[in-house]
Amino acid sequence: MAKHVDKADPVAAPELRFGGVWQYEPAPETTDHCAIAARYQLYIGGQWTKPRSGEYLATIDPATERPLSEVALAGDRDVDAAVKAAQKAFPAWRARSGEDRARYLFRIARILLERAREFAVLETLDNGKPIKETRDVDVPLAAQHFFYHAGWADKLDLLFPGQRPQPLGVIGQVIPWNFPLLMAAWKIAPALAAGNTVVLKPAETSPLTALRLCEVFEQAGLPPGVANVVTGDGRTGAALVRHPGLAKVAFTGSTEVGKEIQRAVAGRGVELTLELGGKAAHLVFEDAALDQAVEGVVRGIFFNQGHVCCAGSRLLVQESVHDLFVDKLRRRMGRIRVGPPLDKNTDMGAIHSQAQLARIRELVAAGVDEGARLHQTACDLPAKGFWFPPSMFTGVSMSHRIAREEIFGPVLSVLTFRTPEEAVEKANNTSYGLSAGIWTDKGARVLWLAARMQAGVVWNNTFNRFDAASPFGGYKESGFGREGGRQGLRAYVRLAGGLSPG
Ligand code: NAD
Repeated sequence: MAKHVDKADPVAAPELRFGGVWQYEPAPETTDHCAIAARYQLYIGGQWTKPRSGEYLATIDPATERPLSEVALAGDRDVDAAVKAAQKAFPAWRARSGEDRARYLFRIARILLERAREFAVLETLDNGKPIKETRDVDVPLAAQHFFYHAGWADKLDLLFPGQRPQPLGVIGQVIPWNFPLLMAAWKIAPALAAGNTVVLKPAETSPLTALRLCEVFEQAGLPPGVANVVTGDGRTGAALVRHPGLAKVAFTGSTEVGKEIQRAVAGRGVELTLELGGKAAHLVFEDAALDQAVEGVVRGIFFNQGHVCCAGSRLLVQESVHDLFVDKLRRRMGRIRVGPPLDKNTDMGAIHSQAQLARIRELVAAGVDEGARLHQTACDLPAKGFWFPPSMFTGVSMSHRIAREEIFGPVLSVLTFRTPEEAVEKANNTSYGLSAGIWTDKGARVLWLAARMQAGVVWNNTFNRFDAASPFGGYKESGFGREGGRQGLRAYVRLAGGLSPG
């Protein structure tokens, strides 16, 4: 099999290349206002609590491999204490008026915005994503989720008329590392708005913003036990989901772990929502505004280093414009600035972990072996930290692993189609069904396609845009249940039926 690797991309703008291997240490003045403790405990019942095991996990800055802090490894007994704290807090929290719960959520949202800078820096350090994104996307959207759900807390009867919405009880929530603060907000805000109490388990490699969110809860005066955070790894997550005190489990993460969780809760009468992986089709038709589509495709795959479940990782371009579009895309990729995550001019930061980098490398090697052509933007990357250049494969066929498996990195696979029917067939030919994008000038075509595409979210002439009012979730192996909007709140209430009193 012929191998095509086009590493020194001739179209990459030379003035934007890094002059050599750069060293990166965050300047002290940028991190001054974001003090990080040497060690964090568990947040249980409003108290910072040491883990019974006495064990801690290190969390590092993926851009430098510098240790940032240590977080507690919660075991079964710690998880049990957290669930019990949430159970204890539940009767009083559900008994509060919706207006009262809304006040706490508004307060949390406002404090988050007041401390936005600190949260953005902390998220960038712990995750590796560019400050431009944490500042403009992660933190404001997290606050928006608290604002949005505060707005519904006293209007649930209007949202579900005549159905007497009731909270479920204690919710166990497990989240991944790619949007740590935002995923915490997606999970906690609707649960609390509806009168539930929660135990949240952040990812082991990016726990710091969820722990800092507990400081915000304290500052907002949230009653103890309403929101608890237990840090740890997969063992902690597994201990949480099997706890008999839970009324519901909400999980965001890999399809593999999602399936395990589904087995763990089966037959227990526990509600479950799963937000899992994706391999989104991003369609570009010949009549689209191609320059805008290039921007959308870049945002679709290189935003957050491609660590995005709904990333537009399978680009389907109409055959008639394939060469022109790929050429434009390669030129645009040459202008993506890969660099220090805390630099406000950086477009793409560090890969989140050594393990994720290994996975990306393995799949890229598989793509080359299978005969697809690899184009990589020329950039010299530092020896320390985890880095991968913006990459694109052309000549990809549906049978290639890079067209089927979630890479979860800055790697785009380009395929072609001739007709809308073929585009739909190829788009749906995946085990996933989380999101899709369509670039075309024809409104009727968008409606025709959207009705046929098996994807929870279909963007038209844009990509990777999120809003708290808009439901997000998948089909097939991308999971079930929705987050955001009315549908997201539905997953946190029991509808008793009958008329609401009054
Ligand atoms: P992961 O499944 O490995 O881990 C997610 C979380 O689950 C972590 O907190 C982890 O500690 C915990 N966990 C691991 N094993 C567990 C077990 N047996 N029981 C309970 N919890 C367990 O996923 P990841 O690598 O952190 O995240 C990447 C994945 O998440 C990707 O596949 C991505 O597509 C998906 N994701 C989906 C969405 C969505 O909304 N659909 C959003 C973000 C990420």
